[in-house]
Formats: sequence, C-alpha cells, structure tokens
Amino acid sequence: MADGATLNNPHPQSEATRGRGTARSGVEGATPDTVLASAPSTTSWSPSPAKGGGGFDVHAARAQFPILSRTVNGKPLVYLDSAASAQKPRAVIDALTAAMEGSYSNVHRGLHTLANETTEAFEQARETVARFLNAESPDQIVWTKGGTEAFNLVAAGLAQSLKPGDEIVTTQMEHHANIVPWSMLRDRLGIVLKWAPVLDDGSLDMAGLAALIGPRTKLVAVTHMSNVLGTVNDVRAVADLAHAAGALVLVDGCQGAVHCSPDVQALDCDFYVFTGHKLYGPTGIGGMYGKRAALEALPPYQGGGEMIATVTEDAVTYAGIPHRFEAGTPPILEAIGLGAALEWFMAFDRQAVAAHERALYDHVVARLSGLNWLRIIGEAPGKGAILTFTVEGAHAHDVAQILDRYGVAVRAGLHCAEPLSKRFGITSSARASFALYNTVEDADAFVDALIKAREFFV
Ligand SMILES: *Cc1c(COP(=O)(O)O)cnc(C)c1O
Repeated sequence: MADGATLNNPHPQSEATRGRGTARSGVEGATPDTVLASAPSTTSWSPSPAKGGGGFDVHAARAQFPILSRTVNGKPLVYLDSAASAQKPRAVIDALTAAMEGSYSNVHRGLHTLANETTEAFEQARETVARFLNAESPDQIVWTKGGTEAFNLVAAGLAQSLKPGDEIVTTQMEHHANIVPWSMLRDRLGIVLKWAPVLDDGSLDMAGLAALIGPRTKLVAVTHMSNVLGTVNDVRAVADLAHAAGALVLVDGCQGAVHCSPDVQALDCDFYVFTGHKLYGPTGIGGMYGKRAALEALPPYQGGGEMIATVTEDAVTYAGIPHRFEAGTPPILEAIGLGAALEWFMAFDRQAVAAHERALYDHVVARLSGLNWLRIIGEAPGKGAILTFTVEGAHAHDVAQILDRYGVAVRAGLHCAEPLSKRFGITSSARASFALYNTVEDADAFVDALIKAREFFV
C-alpha cells in the first residue's frame, strides 16, 4: 500500500484493515461494531445485516480501490457518484495490465498462440457475464461498447419489422438511453411511444402500465432500477404483462446489474442491458443478455468483419449469435477487464453489499429528516441507495460545486432523465449514489458538507 494511502486516510479507524492487500472478503479487523464505536454522529447507523451467511466487510473491500485514498481540494475524497460511473478495484487494474503485458492480440482470427490465448480470455469474460446474470448460455451475451449501444442495437433490429401504428411502451423514469432510440423510431417509422406514469413516491404505476399494453404493443422497455429515484421495479411482473400481449420486454439493467443481483431467467426478460463501467469494470464495454429466440429473430446491427460467415461479391451470409452483432474488432481488453470485475464482485455476498448500501442511505436520510430546505425525490419502498434531492433556493450545480470543495463528489443536473425531472416539476437536482466501497464516514461527511453548503444559500 502506498504511503499516500495512509497519509490521506480519511478513516483512521479503518487503518487496521488497510494495507492488508487483496483478500476478497472476510478480512478480520474493522467490524460494524468498531465502526459504530468510533464514528461521529452515528445516531441512526445500524450495521448491515449479513444475509446468505457471507456478511460484508466494507473496509476490506474499500482498501482494494487505490483511487479512494486520494484527496480532492485538500480533503479526503468522498465519492458518491457511482451511479454515473464506479471506481475500479485493484483486480481490474491488474487484469488490464496483465493482459497488455502478458498476452494480447486480436481475437478469433489468428492461428498463433497469443491470438488463441486472447480469444480464450475474451470468450471467458463472456462466460463470466453469463454466470453473473444466470443466462442459459454464454452465446446469449452480446458485447457492445456500453449500455447505450445495446439499446440502439435492439432498436435498429426492431426497426426492420415495425409498422406505422405499432406501439412501444416505456416509463417516465427511464434514462435517455432507454428513450431516445425509441423516439427516433417513432419519428422515422410512425410508431407510437407510450409512457407509463410514475407515482408521487417514485414507484412505477403498474396499473397505469398495464392499461397501456395492448394488441399493438411490440416492446415494453423498462428500467430495473432508476438511476435517479433508486426505485427498483418488479420487472418480472412487467414481463408477464408484456408476454400476455405478445410483446417483447427489454430491461435496462445498467443500475440493476450492480445492485439487484439479477437472474435473467427468473425475470423472464427478452433482453437485459448492462454497462461495464458501473459494474466496477472499464469504460467502453457493456452489452446485453437476450433470450435465444429474441436474439435469433433480431437482424444484424453493424456490418463488417467478425459478424459474417461468408462474403462474396454478390452475397453475404452472417455468423450465428452472438458474433453477428459484433462487427469489427471488439473491445477486447475492456471485456477482459469487465470479466475480472465481475469475478471480483461475485466473490462478495451481493445481497449483503446491497444491504450495506441501503443502510448508508437510511443513515443519511435519518440525519437529513426534518430539514425543511431539502426535498428528496424518490421514496419508493424497497428502493436502492440513490439519494436525489433539491436544496431550496439553490441550483443543483452550485450545490455540487460547493460539496466538491469539501471533497464530496455528487452528480447534478437532469441525470439523463429529463422526462422524470419534468414529472416532478424540477429543472435540476443533485444526486448522491452509494456503492460497495462507501462507508458511514462517507455518509457523515456528505451530510456535514451539505449542511455547511446550505449556509451559502441563505
Ligand atoms: C448509465 C445508464 C445508462 C447508460 O449507460 P452508458 O454506459 O452511459 O451507455 C442507461 N440506463 C441507466 C439506468 C443508467 O444508469
């Protein structure tokens, strides 16, 4: 462990667990009780319940993220912007370096040793994603450069069979990545885009959604977990509604994959989209799971190498799934890095991690309760650890910039979900999002900085 990590260590009581290297879990040292004993303002803090027998040691996990020991504006970094992009553990950094130093080549088209080794590592990462999502088979995992490209891949495929008057149903809580590709189809093809309402507490109006699904519905596109509200939707129930009408269901799992331990077979979705950089992996990689029938019915996306079976001057035949959706040299290193991230992540008890994140959220909300200048957007039962809020008399951008002076990183603006802001009658909001590595000290530093920030606006 670099000296800097010790010098900048914002959490002295976690010193014991820092520098213990890369043990994945179960490292002795700081326990929730020792945190409780030494942290300030812990009135409502309760340790995460350990479900599944694994438990979760946040300090051991946090110590694996080199960036988290740096400072920002002279203060220890408090990173609460993981819903925009998560930081990377040593296991991912090492996997990328090891690939570049030890075995790297293009994939699928060489007969030499490095090509074979790299192809194996690349396809192994696909197998890891399949295990992570509980897909039936690795060939039902399609690589893309991120979540956004996967929505566009499905939209481009569906465009070839949609007719004017066909309907796509989505919701008011979607990310622009799960809106704009469908809006583009509407404008191009004359299909109808319908919007399921969001209730005042941030829940999806399931009755309202059901009422929109009918015989002309071809696709229901819904998020597993909102990146703004934190709402976790019952996507299995949505899938049942869609399938009863003969429609496909696409689930935006860009947040859900991180926080909801998805099992795509249990969810019965036709497509499940994920993005690597929010899963503690690199940027430039993401993809989707598809049911075999749904993928086989989808025409190819881009044309080029890798996605073909044969090419003559007069005709082209395509490769089978998943390769026919993966034209050109794929993001090889990024896929290998994501595979390493998911192997690392799966070594934790993911339900205990989610419970830890939610306990941090509850702690913050308890400390903020009763502040009449703060409005929280999204309080659906069972929601994930995303706190979106407005501060009376302050633009969210200013709030975020003042928090940054205290080393606290939050997102501010429309969060790529403009219809949702409109639904709640706001033009911007700030968002603190919690991840596996956040501690109760982070949560307290955020609340303390927010209360100080408020003084700038009164
Ligand atoms: C981040 C995000 C996306 C888009 O993912 P990219 O990695 O930016 O392509 C889509 N939906 C949700 C809910 C997200 O949080």
